[in-house]
Amino acid sequence: MERRKAPEDKRTSYKRKEKGSSSLQRVRILFGMVVIEEARRLIKKAEKVLVFTGAGISKESGVPVFRGKDGLWNKYSPEELATPHAFNRNPSLVWEWYRFRRDLIRRAKPNPAHYAIKKLEEIKNEFLLATQNVDALHIRAGSKKIVELHGNIFITRCMQCRYEIEEYERDSEEKVPMCKKCRGLMRPGVVWFGEPLPAHALRKSFEFAKKADLVIVVGTSGVVYPAAYLPFLVKQHGGKIIEVNVEESAITPHADIFIKSPAGEILPRIVG
Ligand SMILES: [Zn+2]
Repeated sequence: MERRKAPEDKRTSYKRKEKGSSSLQRVRILFGMVVIEEARRLIKKAEKVLVFTGAGISKESGVPVFRGKDGLWNKYSPEELATPHAFNRNPSLVWEWYRFRRDLIRRAKPNPAHYAIKKLEEIKNEFLLATQNVDALHIRAGSKKIVELHGNIFITRCMQCRYEIEEYERDSEEKVPMCKKCRGLMRPGVVWFGEPLPAHALRKSFEFAKKADLVIVVGTSGVVYPAAYLPFLVKQHGGKIIEVNVEESAITPHADIFIKSPAGEILPRIVG
């Protein structure tokens, strides 16, 4: 997609306050409080709210990023395991990797940011959470109005008849699970590299975004398309963008409010 010019004049941002008490720091803290108050005001006023989350919110729960640091799986890149081709070639290897990941994720817990988003869902009549995360931490925090754009790692789905089971607590005994309906091969319910996003999830979130008056973007780099179109859709139709992220992203230049801080610290303060 083309890059658009940033609406710099309307943008406010807040950097995480640092220890110490120089006058500059006091000004920063004061400015931070103003920005947080402005975010609270926008959220309170909004009638139709979309929340869009990415890996950053999971990272605050200790979910590791699977790239090169996992010891056991060091020699593989996700691109070599998370593809239909890899699964066809060696389903048992791919399942072993997903079980390893599931175990790590089961040990992680939702953080205050996940719970703040759940609270917002309770406050607003019109609400949707669109997440790019597959770890289901939002579901464990109680979120119900949610679309999982990249699937859910704890779903096991038949490749033939699409029969699904949920394995939040534990994995099936079979190394490579087989469908009890049709004996077909079952796979993890995530979107692999080279696969399209689930059409219903995409349609639902895009339609919601076009009518939303506010999107809160949390912990995403904003570079994975088509999901990353969501904040731009809100903006194009006259809505506002609040972004909470520990680093600037591709969305930051377009955000009306950017708060550079961990979501677990900020979301509970700006919601409700
Ligand atoms: Zn089946």
